[in-house]
Amino acid sequence: MQVILPPAMLGILGGGQLGRMFVSAAKRMGYRVTVLDPDAQAPAAEFADVHLCAAYNDAEALRTLAASCAAITTEFENVNADAMRELAKTTRVSPSGDCVAIAQDRIAEKAWVNKAGLPTAPYLAIESVEDIQVELAPYLPGILKTARLGYDGKGQVRVNSADEARAAYANLGGQACVLEKMLDLKLEVSAIVTRVSPEQLSVFPVAENIHKNGILDESIVPARIAPALAAQAQQMARQLAEALDYVGVLAVEFFVLADDSLVINEIAPRPHNSGHYTIDACVSDQYQQQVRAMCGLLPGRTDLLSPVVMVNLLGDVWQADGGEPNWNVLMEAPNAHLHLYGKKHARPGRKMGHYTVLATDVDAALEQARALKETL
Ligand code: ADP
Ligand code: MG
Repeated sequence: MQVILPPAMLGILGGGQLGRMFVSAAKRMGYRVTVLDPDAQAPAAEFADVHLCAAYNDAEALRTLAASCAAITTEFENVNADAMRELAKTTRVSPSGDCVAIAQDRIAEKAWVNKAGLPTAPYLAIESVEDIQVELAPYLPGILKTARLGYDGKGQVRVNSADEARAAYANLGGQACVLEKMLDLKLEVSAIVTRVSPEQLSVFPVAENIHKNGILDESIVPARIAPALAAQAQQMARQLAEALDYVGVLAVEFFVLADDSLVINEIAPRPHNSGHYTIDACVSDQYQQQVRAMCGLLPGRTDLLSPVVMVNLLGDVWQADGGEPNWNVLMEAPNAHLHLYGKKHARPGRKMGHYTVLATDVDAALEQARALKETL
């Protein structure tokens, strides 16, 4: 495969915080970047060379993107996979529209995970009302999740009985869903793999993820699990990337069950919130990897340089009148790094930024990270 070198123009579908960090990595390496995002204030736009402010399915904007970029990627899974397949006729696109189509649909995603020989929670695919008229006991108590467009715990309803499940399905308007058995989680971890070709593949250290209200709150790296279990998660992520013939950065979320077995929760065809720590704590970060993969370059080394804790900053930490948190406390901590996404309006639950704390061990990093949060 021909490599793409700076100062080539790279394109990205989506201009949120993941796009912003991608643009920042690409620009540092000397590439130019075009961002397609309908939001005039998209976080990535202020760093980009070109902002195509248009809908993701805008034919003219897509033509411009294809004509002006040497390679195109995405920062989120809810793009039109057909548009990506269309772009791929004339431009290098990674990950493929086919892989994005799988990751954007929980039914296809779980089927693929199982097809790759990997475990998911017991689940029932519900594409029409007939599908839910079966014995539901194997999936109860469970979580009903919309097959598409869910994120940060949105589009999910916890159900305890068959009646509740059927009522919740009707409430969601009869859209395609999965009913998933609620598992007893010991903890949650993620592994992020970069795959350029079958020979060129690397995996970041496994992160331990703590969620609050269905939204990632903290990532702790290395995860506080046995090294053999972490190695197994990395191996499963590799196996999945291989099965999908994936090109790009693929994030894999796992559940660790009481018996220390691993179950795949979901995948994301892009860098992941739980991989933000790589910017401050690894030899290469997940956004550089995205650039490298789309340009046909070798994946960078993924070694962890220091134990690290990442804390998400949601709009909730802003003051009710929109006043900024007390950033001074983070600025005065010499082993902390603040990252803000440039979003103008703080809303509860909205991802506004994150910070990392690097220390000699994760317990110290976690203690300090939590103490800092208290004083923001
Ligand atoms: P999202 O796309 O919103 O991230 P997830 O499917 O990852 O949706 O669910 C969000 C969180 O909800 C998970 O990280 C986990 O904490 C919890 N959760 C989801 N499914 C299950 C399950 N089957 N059993 C137990 N907890 C779950
Ligand atoms: Mg998730």
